[in-house]
Amino acid sequence: MKSASFPYIAPGATLGVLGGGQLGRMFSQAAQAAGYGVAVMEPDAHAPAAQVTPIYINAAYDDADGLHQLARSAAAVTVEFENVPATALRWLDAHVQLAPHAPAVATCQDRAAEKALFTRLGVPCAPHVRIDSEEAARGAQIDGLVPGILKTARMGYDGKGQAGVTSAAELPAAWRALGGVPCVLERKLDLHLEISVILARARDGKMVYFPPQQNLHRSGILFASFAPAPELDPATAERAVQAALAIAEGLDYVGVLCVEFFLLEDGGLVANEMAPRPHNSGHHTLDSCDFSQFDLQVRALVGAPLAQPRLHSPAVMLNLMGDLWFDAAGSRREPDWPAVLGLSGAHLHLYGKREARAGRKMGHLTFTAATPQAARASALQACAALGLAPF
Ligand code: ADP
Ligand code: MG
Repeated sequence: MKSASFPYIAPGATLGVLGGGQLGRMFSQAAQAAGYGVAVMEPDAHAPAAQVTPIYINAAYDDADGLHQLARSAAAVTVEFENVPATALRWLDAHVQLAPHAPAVATCQDRAAEKALFTRLGVPCAPHVRIDSEEAARGAQIDGLVPGILKTARMGYDGKGQAGVTSAAELPAAWRALGGVPCVLERKLDLHLEISVILARARDGKMVYFPPQQNLHRSGILFASFAPAPELDPATAERAVQAALAIAEGLDYVGVLCVEFFLLEDGGLVANEMAPRPHNSGHHTLDSCDFSQFDLQVRALVGAPLAQPRLHSPAVMLNLMGDLWFDAAGSRREPDWPAVLGLSGAHLHLYGKREARAGRKMGHLTFTAATPQAARASALQACAALGLAPF
């Protein structure tokens, strides 16, 4: 639906979100704080957003009745994550004010499409080739792409759907092991550090952004984010922000967008992937900024004017994975929250998930402080208290 014709949606209206995980929950909480009702559509009856939203449409993402109910309930709809069926997105785009638009979400669903966009806009990305078939896996020209990482084009997250490839001979087996689905083989780059830029773009094209955060991954999963980015020089930070803004502009994007970047050992900056929504690396904004990435998601969706957010406190965010709920012998335990809550600047966020599992994101813990060093010191103390390896 053409967005320019939509007026500002005043508080009192209901906002819809497709997906009821932690991102849907935090969106709902921000929307409610701003005076909006919320309708969530989600197939899992006990997903994190179920605890906080009165209108909870428990249905598959492409369920026709559910989509009708969502469209009837909500003045505008957004998505919690990008892997929503294309049919559902197209239907919503045609029947309700949807932000971001379906084509932007579709681009973010597919690594090959993302990389094509980056290339079209002149934003550098990793050298890569598409591998869509057994023949392509056998005949691919992979000079300069190994050692590489074969990634499924769609549905990958937290390092899932990826396999290392060190020679052309390994490629067909690696492709089959990933399910024989369309993939991208990209060169394994020498990373100096990883950063992300989170921005919001309004329907009128105005853009605002948070300063880039530096991200530390363990086993392909985000472990910690640091804001401001401790090792990022101002000129490179500016390059990353400008590239992210160009991507949002190029997509005619409306809403919150996150772009992940690699800063290479040789000083190069390449875009890795993007998410058409708030991002795990931006969870610290809930506590470190005058308004959060979820507040911006609400404001962009309702057509409010966007103001530039301000990072008022240096912050370190730690992801709390389900592994913390098990001791070395594999017995269930409760993490030592009192030890963590006694540390200065601690903000504990738990998502209300009923079952802890290894590798599952259960919550996050942000430390704010007057200085980056103090936030870091508290976060390291928390690591010690929780049994996490120090960073
Ligand atoms: P996901 O969707 O799982 O987040 P990513 O493409 O972001 O997938 O990969 C997860 C992590 O794996 C990255 O944050 C980075 O640490 C590492 N990684 C991914 N691609 C490359 C690459 N081309 N070179 C080096 N490391 C990479
Ligand atoms: Mg990633």
